[in-house]
Amino acid sequence: NTLSQRDQAVIWHPFTQMQTAPAPIPVVRGEGSVLYLEDGREMLDMISSWWVNLHGHSHPYIADRVAAQLRTLEHTIFADFTHEPAVQLAERLLPILPTNQRRIFYSDNGSTAVEVALKMAFQYWHNIGQPRLKVVAFEDAYHGDTFGAMAVGGRSAFTAPFAPFLFNVTYLPVPVPGREAEVLELAQTLFTDEVAAFIVEPLVQGAGGMNMYEPAALNELFALARTHGTLLIADEVMTGFGRTGKLFASHYLTEQPDLMCLSKGITGGTMALGVTTCTAAIYDAFLSTDKMKTLFHGHSFTANPIACAAALASMDLLLDEDRLADIQRIITRHTAFADRLRQSPVVGNIRQRGTLLAFDLITNGQTSYFNNIRDVAYQFLLEKGVLMRPLGNVLYFMPPYCTTNTQLQVAYDAVLALLTKLED
Ligand code: PMP
Repeated sequence: NTLSQRDQAVIWHPFTQMQTAPAPIPVVRGEGSVLYLEDGREMLDMISSWWVNLHGHSHPYIADRVAAQLRTLEHTIFADFTHEPAVQLAERLLPILPTNQRRIFYSDNGSTAVEVALKMAFQYWHNIGQPRLKVVAFEDAYHGDTFGAMAVGGRSAFTAPFAPFLFNVTYLPVPVPGREAEVLELAQTLFTDEVAAFIVEPLVQGAGGMNMYEPAALNELFALARTHGTLLIADEVMTGFGRTGKLFASHYLTEQPDLMCLSKGITGGTMALGVTTCTAAIYDAFLSTDKMKTLFHGHSFTANPIACAAALASMDLLLDEDRLADIQRIITRHTAFADRLRQSPVVGNIRQRGTLLAFDLITNGQTSYFNNIRDVAYQFLLEKGVLMRPLGNVLYFMPPYCTTNTQLQVAYDAVLALLTKLED
């Protein structure tokens, strides 16, 4: 039996449980931006797997650091104990975050980073004796798959079976270019002194379809929410660590968030790790002799030393001058390719923020998230040896920073071939 068949007999995969889903593709090795498949083929990873592998796959520098940590201290309880990798990582993260961020709380992944931010926000209001129960989020938002994260997710189709169990959230349309004034007007009525938190994916909504909007629009919404004391949560799980051309999307803003959620690229894609950061004011609301004011949240693997070591290694690579040059190089290539895309009648709404380039595929003159063009595009590109997993009818590039110009060109050419096919 092939690996694929053995898999199909015993495993339940995320998001693919449809009878028409293709057999899973066995991957045996990864190096740089390439995944090597069991059947000998190579696959260019143009989405950094699930948006995590900043430095490509199996980077030797990260591998060495992880191996060394594994032999020194692989894990320890993090309640009442600490260790060098956790402290060092916090010390390195805080200076590169918005200046008001003062504390690092560790968890396991993006969803838990969001859960922790929401729990901190709700309990902040509880602890200071002014409970607030309302949350505002964006339509089409995606913040993860745990219950709190689902509650603030803006695509109800994905969470319908769980709807009765999700807390109440009010949604604002995304202030995409042209809709800013309308959204701001609606926000004037939605934001009140009862809103505990406003959670956003700053500047780029990822899973919702790579919807992009301008810093000015978010600044205005943040400023408005803040007049009501509402806590601002920036979910930078996807946008963090250089994706948008700055280290964090929040650095494009003049209004600073109160809480931030980080994960995905933090370890360069080697290990699962989540981080929630907050201001001194939030942390201080939990400092008390009253035990009931503590944050009741802790995972078995909180601040796992191997994950922290991987993150430290990934940061060494990321903060290197050469990496910043790589990011600029990818941005420039993307911008040039966007011009080429503009010539295609089956492409619409081309948008770019840093190393993220996205566009809609148009079928029958229409652009619709839910249509079968997704599967056609996905399969076509896989056959060309390019991994780009479309979001509905949205195709996007989110390459590892080590992707060479030649590799980028291979992916661009595959997309152009797809467009030619769709134009016929
Ligand atoms: N927030 C955002 C913005 C995300 O893109 C994701 C993952 N796609 C998550 C949260 C959830 O992260 P994880 O899958 O690691 O739980």
